[in-house]
Amino acid sequence: MLTADITIYELEYWLRETDSEKLKELWTAADETRKKHVGDEVHLRGLIEISNHCARTCAYCGIRAPNSEVIRYRMSKEEIMECVAEAVKLGYGTVVMQSGEDYGVKQEWLSDIIRAIKQETELAVTLSMGERPREDIAAWREAGADRYLIRFETSDPLLYDRIHPGGANSKWRNRFEILNLLRSLGYETGGGVMIGIPGQSYAMLARDIDMFRKLDLDMIGVGPYIAHPETPLGSGEIASDIDPRDQVPGTEELTCKVVALTRIVRPDSNIPSTTALATVSKETGRINGLMRGANVVMPNLTPEKYRILYDVYPEKACLNETSDACKGCLQNQIDAIGRDIGSGQGGRKR
Ligand code: SAH
Repeated sequence: MLTADITIYELEYWLRETDSEKLKELWTAADETRKKHVGDEVHLRGLIEISNHCARTCAYCGIRAPNSEVIRYRMSKEEIMECVAEAVKLGYGTVVMQSGEDYGVKQEWLSDIIRAIKQETELAVTLSMGERPREDIAAWREAGADRYLIRFETSDPLLYDRIHPGGANSKWRNRFEILNLLRSLGYETGGGVMIGIPGQSYAMLARDIDMFRKLDLDMIGVGPYIAHPETPLGSGEIASDIDPRDQVPGTEELTCKVVALTRIVRPDSNIPSTTALATVSKETGRINGLMRGANVVMPNLTPEKYRILYDVYPEKACLNETSDACKGCLQNQIDAIGRDIGSGQGGRKR
């Protein structure tokens, strides 16, 4: 039954389904649910990757602290405000500032930038700065930030701990505590997972989707895990420890199934068709995400000289495109499927 009360067993059944005729039922149900609850608008969120410094050691991520191959950068306020002006010019309703967990990004420095954006523009401000202390997250809300994204990566505590070496401050529980904190501070709150992590089973992924339902997240981002050779997970140093028949693949199809089922369990959430999905399938990923439940896209506004250094995973889609070209390309794709570009901030409509 493809309704919001679908059981965990049925979720797993759909995740394992490979018959393309049967899958059409899932795609149609997700697309109808999307249309009914969030309409035909596709909201564009301009992504600014403000720093690639990172204090953490996440085993999958290319900008993890121990990766000495990365040339590190941190954007200046002036550079960030230029990207913000570009977002306004291109008609985007939101900017998303993302970075590694960078304690060189000081609380007051970012508060000042948030205040400037809120004073000078109508944009919604979304942050994705990692597991920062409560005081920082509270100060940024006070300064005017509207939304915060932090994925919990997997709902399975053991898998989480395997891919987050680093002891007590890298625990699974922390992510959920931050999600609760964000909500209590009045942020629109976003979480999500990667798909195809070595050691991730279909049953775990079904529980991830159930977790989205329980947490009632405002935004839910999912994308395929993409191996980065300069990481312990990508190099095979940490390997899958489950039966290969249970291991989920990080494919376009499986990601679309998760997007579709997520739409079905959380009909009114904002769900992006992610860059990671567009990366594993450069031709159809973006569009299939949008036709199978997603209603958001996050075009990249980071200056080109930095973009290539924000190397969380390799061969990212649209890496060399200017912001203008990116907007044009998205406009064409959105037109082609009979949808509209969203206007305004595009917050969650309940
Ligand atoms: N430091 C912040 C934001 C940057 S990472 C944070 O941790 O929240 C943003 C997201 O990129 C992560 O949550 C993770 O889901 C994703 N990511 C990192 N490495 C990846 C990889 N190798 N493949 C796919 N997605 C990855």
